[in-house]
Amino acid sequence: MDVLQCPVCELRFRSESELDQHLSIDHPNFRAEESEERGSSAVRPPRHPPER
Ligand SMILES: [Zn+2]
Repeated sequence: MDVLQCPVCELRFRSESELDQHLSIDHPNFRAEESEERGSSAVRPPRHPPER
């Protein structure tokens, strides 16, 4: 039985897409580090824009 466990927390997922989605939502920093290694030049919008 194939089960993918999140490398950051204890959650497990059946498919890679689910794990991928979980990482992008619950562990955005983890994904960011990974993409940085690949040399991605994607621009991430600020999570908490300053209020005016
Ligand atoms: Zn997790």
